Amino acid sequence: EKVDICTASKNYSVYIGPDIIHLLSNSLAEYTKVMIITDETVSELHIGKIIEQFPELIVYTTPSGEKAKTFQIYEDCLSFALKHGLDRKSVILAFGGGAVGDLAGFVAATYMRGIPFIQIPTTILAHDSAVGGKVAINHSLGKNMVGAFYQPEMVIYDTNFLHSLPERQVRSGFAEVIKHGLIADPIFLQELMENLSSLNHLNNIQLSNYLKKGIEIKSAFVSKDEKETGIRAYLNFGHTLGHAIEAKADFGKLTHGESVMCGMVYALILSNNILGLTFDIQSFIQWIEKLGYKWRIPSYMEFDTLYELMKRDKKSTSGKPAFVLLKEIGKPMMMEVEKSLLEDTFYKLSE
Ligand code: NAD
Ligand code: ZN
Repeated sequence: EKVDICTASKNYSVYIGPDIIHLLSNSLAEYTKVMIITDETVSELHIGKIIEQFPELIVYTTPSGEKAKTFQIYEDCLSFALKHGLDRKSVILAFGGGAVGDLAGFVAATYMRGIPFIQIPTTILAHDSAVGGKVAINHSLGKNMVGAFYQPEMVIYDTNFLHSLPERQVRSGFAEVIKHGLIADPIFLQELMENLSSLNHLNNIQLSNYLKKGIEIKSAFVSKDEKETGIRAYLNFGHTLGHAIEAKADFGKLTHGESVMCGMVYALILSNNILGLTFDIQSFIQWIEKLGYKWRIPSYMEFDTLYELMKRDKKSTSGKPAFVLLKEIGKPMMMEVEKSLLEDTFYKLSE
C-alpha cells in the first residue's frame, strides 16, 4: 500500500505493509552517510533487521519514550552526527515511535540547516506523528515548544514492527485512528465499529488498511493547510480536554491516546448538545469499552484545573476554550464553549 502526500514544501510517499523494510535499500544509495536514530526498546527488538541489510549504518540510541525529546539528547545527536562526519548529502533515519520521529526530524531539520530524513515508524500512534511534518523537542516549560515544520523524504511503515507493541501502546495509537474516522469519514468509522471488537490480535491486513486510511485522512487535512491555520486544527478533535487530562494524569496512568479518547467522548457529548449531532454515543461508548478504553475522567481531576488548561490549549479571542465539535460524523467545526456547559458535561463524565 502506498499513500502519496503532497504539501506545499514537498511531495513524498508513505509505504505501508508487512515486509517492506527492504524498500530502504533503493533509497539509501544516493546518500554519503546514513545515521539511524532509535530508542533502547526498539533497538533491542528490531534493529537487527535493519543492520543486517545495512551494516554500515551509524546508530544513535536514545532513552525510550518522551525522554528522547530533550535538549540534552538533541545536542548529543548533533555531536554524534558531527563526529561521524555527516554532511548535507547524508540522511537521518527515524526508527521508532512518535518520540524518536519528532526528535530525529528536528535533528534533521536543523543539522547544517537541514538534511534529508526518512521515517520508519514502529508504533500505531506514529501514523499520526510521522505524517504532517511537525517535528519538535520539549522545553521544560512546555511539550513540543521547540520545533519545525519539516517533511521527510519518505515514510516506510512496516507493519511487522508493530506486533511487539504492548497493548496499551496499541490502544493509545488506535485512538487517533478512531479520531480520523470521527472527523472525516463516517463510512470508515462504521466499518471500524462493525469489524473491530478487540485490539489484541490485529493482523497485518487490518493494520495496513486502518493505518492507510488514517494517514490518508490526516494528510488530506494537512496538505490543505500545512502550517496549521485553518482546517488542520480539526485534527485536534478530542485534544482540548485530552491534553488537559494527559497533563494532570498521575505518572504513567494515561497515555496520549487514552486521554484523547476521554476528550473525544466529551467533545461528542458537547457536539450533541450544541450542534445537535445525531450519533449513537452510547453504542460508541460500549464499543470503545470493549476495546479496553476508559472514557470517564479520573476522579482525582477537578473541573477548575482542567478548565484552566483547556483555556490555554487553543488561543481563543474571548478567553473561552475552543473545541473541535462535529455537526455530523465527518463534519467538524471550531467552537468556543461556555464554561457552564463545560462544567455540566464534566460532571456527566467524571468517575
Ligand atoms: P513513543 O515513541 O514514546 O513510543 C511509545 C513507547 O513504545 C516507547 O516506550 C517506545 O520505546 C515503545 N515502542 C516503540 N515502538 C515499539 C515496538 N514496535 N514494540 C514495542 N515497543 C515499542 O511514543 P508514540 O506513542 O509513538 O508517540 C508519542 C510522541 O509522538 C509524543 O512525543 C508526541 O508529542 C508525538 N506526536 C507528534 C505528532 C506530530 O505531529 N509530530 C503527533 C502526535 C504525537
Ligand atoms: Zn494526538
